[in-house]
Amino acid sequence: MSRFFSVISVTDAVKVAEKIAPLPGKETVPVEISAGRVLASDISADTDVPGFDRSVVDGYAVRSADTAGAGNSAPALIRCAGRVAMGKHDATLAVGNAGCAYIPTGGILPPGADAAVMIEYTEVAGDTVLLKKAASYGENIIRKDEDFQAGETVFLAGRRLSPQDTGVLAACGCMDVPVAKKPVVAIISTGNELVPGGVVPGPGQVRDANGPMLSSWLREYGCEPRLYGIVKDEREAFEAVIARAVSECDVVLLSGGSSKDDRDMTARVIADKGTVLVHGIALAPGKPTIIGTIDSKPVFGLPGHPASAFVVLIAIVRPLLDRMLGQTDPLINTVQATLSENIPSQRGREEYVRVKLRDGVATPLFGKSGLLNTLVRSHGLIRIPAGFEGLEKGSTVDVILW
Ligand code: AMP
Ligand code: MG
Repeated sequence: MSRFFSVISVTDAVKVAEKIAPLPGKETVPVEISAGRVLASDISADTDVPGFDRSVVDGYAVRSADTAGAGNSAPALIRCAGRVAMGKHDATLAVGNAGCAYIPTGGILPPGADAAVMIEYTEVAGDTVLLKKAASYGENIIRKDEDFQAGETVFLAGRRLSPQDTGVLAACGCMDVPVAKKPVVAIISTGNELVPGGVVPGPGQVRDANGPMLSSWLREYGCEPRLYGIVKDEREAFEAVIARAVSECDVVLLSGGSSKDDRDMTARVIADKGTVLVHGIALAPGKPTIIGTIDSKPVFGLPGHPASAFVVLIAIVRPLLDRMLGQTDPLINTVQATLSENIPSQRGREEYVRVKLRDGVATPLFGKSGLLNTLVRSHGLIRIPAGFEGLEKGSTVDVILW
């Protein structure tokens, strides 16, 4: 078997990954547990929000014209017509004829009133209120439908819901939220040398870091990870676990054993059971990556080195998950920073370099991809596109934050 890769560009690899993404599934979840999920339909308000003109202060609802010129030394003296009660509409209460009404924050503005004066600027003398500040038209009030109008589209499908969004959903009457189903993703760690983290490794053995790492990332990204443990580089065991994972999950991620080496089985098993679409991506780290399908399900062979597996997860697998989630904006945070030194790069491949961030300066950590420590001592990654020979010191870069 050839040990050379017919590598393709990251852009093309992403296109392949997106193409094999299963269609997003849809389900409904209660609004209080919908944060973090991706909206599967547009949401519109079922009523005006708020449904009535309301005060944003404790004070007095007034006709602004009646307060013209009022000040500390010359307060406007206005008759108090009554009190607005929270959550109630009193049809008999109105502010006309140089009258005003006490109003609590959020209370319904009585007919005739067009502004509110804060209680701090008022004094009560019997039936009369002394207003020591003029209110302009509309001051201290929120208009009916000022937040959202009935029928207005409040959120578009594809939005990743934040906790604040869930408050708005409830305010708009959306208690059962249509969201994308969580993609179920199988994680299989492969290699004769691997032992679980709970075992002290013997000579030549390595603890499985990829399983927990991939699983945690996937869970945070809104997927349902399923760990299938460690599989030895033995064809029968390998085939059995892949068959099980393919039948039980939407996507399968294998790590380790993805190089074109006679010992490495991933590509051969995928080729036998399905189709290998990509074997080798112009990506560093992450070149020995496989993309294929078995029974129409996407199967990825990620490199064994955790740092490489992580880059492939972010650069290649993530766009497929975005498709499955119907997500319009990927859930990655980037910040701009100034590069502290030159980074050389090989033209023709996309490169990801881990960087430390401090006071807006990004310092590259040139760790070997086999090392784990740079994954946690860095704050994120910068991407050097394939056509670049590197990045220059002092240039502005986007840092993809962990
Ligand atoms: P491979 O891709 O199988 O050639 O593995 C490349 C390197 O990654 C080897 O040093 C493996 O021991 C290491 N490796 C593979 N899988 C894992 C894993 N799940 N956790 C930590 N290291 C791994
Ligand atoms: Mg291996």
